[in-house]
Amino acid sequence: MQCEIIKDLIPLMEDDVCSPQSKEAVLEHIQTCDNCRQFYEKAKIQPVFELSTDETAALKSMKKGFRKIKRKWAVSILLVIALIPIVFLAWGQLNGRGVSFTNINKIKIADAFLSDLKEGDYEAAFHHIDITPIKEDWLGEWFDDKTLENIEEDAQRVFCESASLLIDTGGITDYQFLAIDKQPDSYMLYYTVIVDVQEQELLLNVTDQGIIRFSNHGSFIDDPVAHFGQWSEYLWEEYEGCYFDPETKQYIYYD
Ligand SMILES: [Zn+2]
Repeated sequence: MQCEIIKDLIPLMEDDVCSPQSKEAVLEHIQTCDNCRQFYEKAKIQPVFELSTDETAALKSMKKGFRKIKRKWAVSILLVIALIPIVFLAWGQLNGRGVSFTNINKIKIADAFLSDLKEGDYEAAFHHIDITPIKEDWLGEWFDDKTLENIEEDAQRVFCESASLLIDTGGITDYQFLAIDKQPDSYMLYYTVIVDVQEQELLLNVTDQGIIRFSNHGSFIDDPVAHFGQWSEYLWEEYEGCYFDPETKQYIYYD
């Protein structure tokens, strides 16, 4: 009778679900009962051994799984972070408005241009200007090859001279990108610039070759930025040998 109770208790003991008193009773009993001791040894070694390998294997694979999941999560999060600008650019691409794959280079050009202007380095700023369209427009229609021989240097000089009113005000002290719009063969970039502590809008026509035109809504006579934006007009006047008279609104030719 007692052996039957002990045998019932042994598995519970192995599972660690019996009371300390029962445990003590079992240990005491197997000291004297060979039959029960054998049963105890079997129960102890066999199942515990199997359980431990199973358990460690399960635990290991679980840990591995968690590590894998953790790694997968980390990769996913990184991917999502990396995808944000791509999605942003694709959105612009699809809409034909805003920043996109095809116009990000134009924004870079405009930013570099404005950064140079902010630094007061007008010669460096000129390097972001593309004078090819101007030259092509003028060649044949207005001037010959000979006149336009030194157009690069002349353009840079007149460009820098045209900034005189702007330099007098202290130049562009800050700027911020506002928006971008597609035009037939260029992009229109809108910026806010600070000139003489006042905010004003600056529009830039940009292609991958550089800035074709820049202007604001001011008058070229008294607005420093508008005056600067008209630099190619002054270059044309120089080659043409005339100047514009704002009062009569006519070109006056030097003899
Ligand atoms: Zn016994």
